[in-house]
Amino acid sequence: MKQDHFKYLLEQFDEYKIMRYTVPGFEALSTKQKTLLYYLSQAALCGRDITFDQHYKHNLLIRSVLENIYRNYKNAQHKKLSVDAFALFEQYLKKIWFSNGIHHHNSTDKFYPQFSTDDWKLLFSYYDGAQVSPNTQSLQDFLEEQMFSENVAPKRVSQDSSKDLIAGSAVNFYENVSQKEVEAYYSTQKTNDDATPMAYGLNSRLIKQDGQIKEQTYKQGGLYSKAIEQILFWLEKAKTCVENDKQAKALNLLMSYYRSGCLKTWDEYNIAWVQDLDSETDFVNGFIEDYGDPMGMKATWESVVNFKDQEASKRTAIISNNAQWFENHSPIHPQYRKAKVKGVSAKAINVVQLGGDCYPTTPIGINLPNADWIRRDYGSKSVTIENIVYAYDQVSKSSGFLEEFVLNPKEIERIRTYGTVASNLHTDLHECLGHGSGQLAEGVSTTALKNYASPLEEARADLFALYFLMDDKMQELGLFDTKEVAKAEYDSYIRNGLMSQLVRVKLGDDIEQAHMRNRQLVAAWCYDKGQADGVIETIVNEGKTYVQINDYDKLRLLFGQLLKEVQRIKSEGDYEAGKALIETYAVKVNQDLHKEVLERFKTLNIAPYGGFVNPVLKPVYKDDEIVDITIEYVEDYSEQMLAYSKDFGFLA
Ligand code: ZN
Repeated sequence: MKQDHFKYLLEQFDEYKIMRYTVPGFEALSTKQKTLLYYLSQAALCGRDITFDQHYKHNLLIRSVLENIYRNYKNAQHKKLSVDAFALFEQYLKKIWFSNGIHHHNSTDKFYPQFSTDDWKLLFSYYDGAQVSPNTQSLQDFLEEQMFSENVAPKRVSQDSSKDLIAGSAVNFYENVSQKEVEAYYSTQKTNDDATPMAYGLNSRLIKQDGQIKEQTYKQGGLYSKAIEQILFWLEKAKTCVENDKQAKALNLLMSYYRSGCLKTWDEYNIAWVQDLDSETDFVNGFIEDYGDPMGMKATWESVVNFKDQEASKRTAIISNNAQWFENHSPIHPQYRKAKVKGVSAKAINVVQLGGDCYPTTPIGINLPNADWIRRDYGSKSVTIENIVYAYDQVSKSSGFLEEFVLNPKEIERIRTYGTVASNLHTDLHECLGHGSGQLAEGVSTTALKNYASPLEEARADLFALYFLMDDKMQELGLFDTKEVAKAEYDSYIRNGLMSQLVRVKLGDDIEQAHMRNRQLVAAWCYDKGQADGVIETIVNEGKTYVQINDYDKLRLLFGQLLKEVQRIKSEGDYEAGKALIETYAVKVNQDLHKEVLERFKTLNIAPYGGFVNPVLKPVYKDDEIVDITIEYVEDYSEQMLAYSKDFGFLA
């Protein structure tokens, strides 16, 4: 995957960066597969307005008026605003696109325009659409209040359980009902002895009308029908290109669910979907995650269209198939090795289209379905999104971060060359083998380590990966052909654990997050134990601190020693020893170093949140038949957003 000149980072504004991803392997797919992905991509875009409307009931109105103003203003001869004021307006609109609404995608707090209300009055004079307001105010006043007032919809999802969660949340899953009424409504539907419970309330809005509480179900003929009909139109076309019967079965059940809104069909669909393991192409399209509902019931619409990354999936298969070899050679007490170990097989995918709540911000891994009983009885699909991780990597390589925190140019070069391969392999070893390795001594409780369990568990999986990355077995299995890969990962890991991860901690705070505690534990312990031999060294150059590894082989042995000890702690449930490790190495931060790291990071001006534009899939016709699908990588975020609103604005 050599795409050195491809522009991954497109633009930055406020605290956001907009990137794009490539789709390696797309050309090698069959025309039928490509056509299927094209149809599914169209279906992925058709639900965009649903997500906006679910997030907040006035989002679509706000978006369409602002887009109208934005277009007219850009074309206008006479511009009444200062350049700076219009730039602030543009930034506000970009943020709305980014979050699918007027609330921050992550904190769910409403964000406010940085232009003034006077500027708003000037801006509104460029609006030439319908003057329809949802209440008695003029449209201009109504929108001003929506955007600027701190009393109107200040938070999308409230977690403050001391108050009515629904009254405190602007999210559009409920109307005119209190938390008590919602709880009462759904308590009559749930039964405790049901081993296969339906996801009650998942796909509906609950409202009170004329004293009656009722559900408005998202389905054809129900709420969001106009968008759902379009989704169905494209899924219907997709049916003509399925790879096999299992995929056809899943697709048919999904369509039937969109038509009826029936949650039993939804479960049947998920079972069929999780059992379709042979198809190269795959997709998510529906009301999936419930984080957006303060009651944790109702799901926001999303879509991800993808296909299997054969190369990367080979990697996970090799590791998984050799699980027993790794277990037998793990540097832990033999009695704590598993006699029979089963590797978890996960696959790697490339996405071709992100939609709804997964656009423009996307997860880098997916593990579905969500229903516990389906996972228990039928399993789940676990994937890592290879091309998104790759794009993130490329962007971070050019962010200046490496140059700021690495002194040795050779080390920078090594990370640029091998960093992506190295971190992918680390993740594979950690996920496929690390967590599943080892066993408890008889009679030891799985909860013996209490609050120290998760950082120790993460350390165990990381140490397993780090130890084996430097093993000759990696080359023997053909996973890479030079130990430089392992060295690149050792450099990154130790630097991150001792220093650079501190950019995510506020000055004066301890380290709280389990993964961060784990990384500092591993790095600081090895630094300490290797000090006499100078295994890891800190260097100060022109007032800046750097970390350098002097002996990679000795470092590997230290990883092995710590793995042995952490495994012993887990196997024996040795709470005191676990506590001592974490409290000594993983919690406290050197204040001077922390301050320095934060200051150095600030000068790099790196936006903390990232989103992606989609490529454009285009059918090539011969007569009336699709003979190929081409893929085009576009660069303009605003243009894509405006085009989506125009072409897929079925609810606005
Ligand atoms: Zn883990």
